[in-house]
Amino acid sequence: MSSPKPKKLNRPRSQEIFRRALDVLVGGVNSPVRAFRAVGGEPIVVDRAAGARLWDADENEYIDYVCSWGALILGHAHPNVVQAINDQARRGTSYGMPTELEVELATRIRRALPSCEKVRFVSSGTEATMSAVRLARAATHRDLIIKFDGCYHGHSDSFLSEAGSGLATLGIAACPGVPQALAALTLNAPYNDAAAVGKLFAENPNKIAAIIVEPIAANMGLVPPADGFLKSLRELATRHGALLIFDEVITGFRVCYGGAQTLSGITPDLTTLGKIIGAGLPVAAYGGRRDLMDQVAPLGPVYQAGTLSGNPLAMSAGIASLDLLAAPGFYESLDALAKRLGDGITSALRETAAPATAVRTGSLLTLFFSPNPIKNYADAKKCDTKRFAVFFQAMLERGIFIAPSQFEAMFVSSAHTAADIDRTIAAFRESLLLSAE
Ligand SMILES: *Cc1c(COP(=O)(O)O)cnc(C)c1O
Repeated sequence: MSSPKPKKLNRPRSQEIFRRALDVLVGGVNSPVRAFRAVGGEPIVVDRAAGARLWDADENEYIDYVCSWGALILGHAHPNVVQAINDQARRGTSYGMPTELEVELATRIRRALPSCEKVRFVSSGTEATMSAVRLARAATHRDLIIKFDGCYHGHSDSFLSEAGSGLATLGIAACPGVPQALAALTLNAPYNDAAAVGKLFAENPNKIAAIIVEPIAANMGLVPPADGFLKSLRELATRHGALLIFDEVITGFRVCYGGAQTLSGITPDLTTLGKIIGAGLPVAAYGGRRDLMDQVAPLGPVYQAGTLSGNPLAMSAGIASLDLLAAPGFYESLDALAKRLGDGITSALRETAAPATAVRTGSLLTLFFSPNPIKNYADAKKCDTKRFAVFFQAMLERGIFIAPSQFEAMFVSSAHTAADIDRTIAAFRESLLLSAE
């Protein structure tokens, strides 16, 4: 199948809206990567979406592989999800008091991830990871945490002491506004390097509260864990009296119903979830062993609260969504669709001899513009981001929307069809050739 004729995207109305956005919003956006800084040009200004399709304010149509950064595993506006939100909206949008909906969603989460004996709902992944670390520090009476270069855990202070740079090694805040004293409490290690973690434990005896990790990293592009990496982290944490936190904000209900912990068979002490569990509404959660979670207020002294936490619209959307994901065969068909895409891209790479590497785990996929395998952030940073930018724009002109950054994953949803996938592969082939010119 050939891809549609690339057309020079005509976006006068989008441009007019974005000009107004630049005046009243910082950079015209409410989250930085949306600004297209890494790829040039102006962002898509979305008018509406359905299934695997987005339309911008000028009626240009795109096949969407961002899917709200992975939240929409069912695609946009799935009828069951829309119905659930509509039904709930008529009954009220927020009560600030307990509902049965919270119990229902938490019960589904515990069934899927048995390590989450108890759950607390919050409103963003950032809140979930921040709260999980607070709990880990309280439970261990220790202050230090270990994170991995290139893993993203939201934007709270502890997690911005970067990501790979020499500054991080010196404990200097990479992000202005993060106190150096706080940044110094975060230790960084390269992803897939358990020996480096062992060294940090040896250098800081009885001081490390937790290791936090994306069990399949998807925020430096997709970087799966090497064989034995997660097992080593589990053993190191246990041996040194630290907690292991799996940040499954992307992988939870993505790589299989039970997330990366089910796939890997490694049980964390605490887990953070987000994105998919809210089906596109703002909800996230942290959960874990009962004895740990019972230290959170009101049962314990670890304070954490939220006006809109457990929001009934979000809970309803999450329940409707998880019930569809729990259906037999859901992940098998999703993975088959993603495999079709992955295989097609691999063939396109072979045919075009592009110096790039495709990595796929289930419905997550990244095309790295590097001929070498990507095992960690240092490898990822060697990618040819200029070439990625050309590739991205060529894809966009062909009506295919992937994340506007080399360091993200594509998300296949159950709303994508085999025809969408084949059109995407054709666009890949053409865009790879163009990016080589
Ligand atoms: C998206 C993401 C977060 C942050 O979630 P927000 O809802 O954007 O605050 C945290 N961890 C991981 C792994 C993520 O992908």
